[in-house]
Amino acid sequence: MSHHPPESRHEVPCSFCGLLCDDLSVTTDHGRVRIESGNCPRALAGFDAANRHLEAGASPSIGGKTATLEEAVAAAAAILGKAQAPLFGGCGTHLPGMRGVMELADATGGTVDHMNSYSMFRNFHVLQNSGWVVTSLSEVRNRADLLVCFGTDIGSRLPRFYERCLWVDDTLFGLGAEDREVVMLGQPKDPLLATSPGGRKAEVLACRNEQLGEVAQALRALVRGAPVSGDAVAGIPLADLARLAERLKAAKYGVVAWVTSDLDFDHAELAIQSACDLVRELNAHTRCNGLPLGGTDGDYTAHQVCTWQTGFTVRTRLSAAGPQHDPVALDAERVLAEGRADALFWVSSFDPGKTPPAGKRPTVVLGHPAMRVDCDVFIPVGIPGIDSAGHLFRTDSSVAVPMRQLRDVGLPEVADVTAGILAILRPAGNGQAKQEVRAC
Ligand code: SF4
Repeated sequence: MSHHPPESRHEVPCSFCGLLCDDLSVTTDHGRVRIESGNCPRALAGFDAANRHLEAGASPSIGGKTATLEEAVAAAAAILGKAQAPLFGGCGTHLPGMRGVMELADATGGTVDHMNSYSMFRNFHVLQNSGWVVTSLSEVRNRADLLVCFGTDIGSRLPRFYERCLWVDDTLFGLGAEDREVVMLGQPKDPLLATSPGGRKAEVLACRNEQLGEVAQALRALVRGAPVSGDAVAGIPLADLARLAERLKAAKYGVVAWVTSDLDFDHAELAIQSACDLVRELNAHTRCNGLPLGGTDGDYTAHQVCTWQTGFTVRTRLSAAGPQHDPVALDAERVLAEGRADALFWVSSFDPGKTPPAGKRPTVVLGHPAMRVDCDVFIPVGIPGIDSAGHLFRTDSSVAVPMRQLRDVGLPEVADVTAGILAILRPAGNGQAKQEVRAC
């Protein structure tokens, strides 16, 4: 535990959602971290959870009994050493942590998947099928004059999106906060989150999110000038949709944004595909871009690291014959349900609630220090951006933001632990680099 006097830091990046805001002011006092600026509920909850273990302590355990880090690392290595088909799930970590997980999966012939894959793959299916026209947060900030939220209010998931990207006056081309408009399609949870500083509310065209595909296709036809029959589509009056189609054509830079976790229904990828078709149609008339939003628990980072190391995104097995990717058969949930994994190595360092799926199998957890979980080996690890430095990819994947270490309360990093396990699995002299596991 650190015994330094309280220390204030500014321009601290936050790791608790895909926006990775880099402007927090944070005080660290005897290991306790406190945000001094802003009131983002998600960041406050993340920093609050980071202090929860300080009094009770967080120590490694084997079969529920306290152990030293070295003992826990050895027990984890014993489990992985015996496994023929280990599954590396969760993958809630930053870039160096994910590299460590990949190295361990490579050494053991394991399968890698991320806990948010079910949601990420809604986007990947569209990207793989047809590609898409999407933009970055900086472009939205500087250019977007009309934002269409597709089945989401955005703010419930990325609380400071409007403050950081839309209600800004300091932009490259003179666009001010009150020059922008927001329209929400579908079932936004709280449309008031998109109220402008001047009090202008978002317009809501309500329908069930499951019907958003139809709505996007009707808008696309209206933009093209094709006939659309009936008085309404999915309960939205046709006249309202025709008005929105005209507004999108008249906008200088329209943006259609969605959050995959809000599109939680069967074949949601088809609705996203329709939104992307609408964007493509609009580009015959004006500029318009898609904006896929998300990025929690290091999901975009896991995707990037896995892709550049293997050529495939997650749901990939690192077999001796080379990486094998199967978005259906290597879905972690399916692998576990079908009994195809003989050990589970679960990493979840952002959120103490994201524990591994229940089930009887040898399980190693590298978890948030406040996590409570039943497993064979538990090793509390540092939280990215609080205990551990390293990059995370932002929601638009165009920027990798360096997270900072704000305190040292003796928690090892994911990469320290994976290196320690590797050192046991691949004895010295076997051509592999060795690293010392830092003591708790
Ligand atoms: S919006 Fe996201 S990144 Fe920004 S402060 Fe809140 S939780 Fe952190």
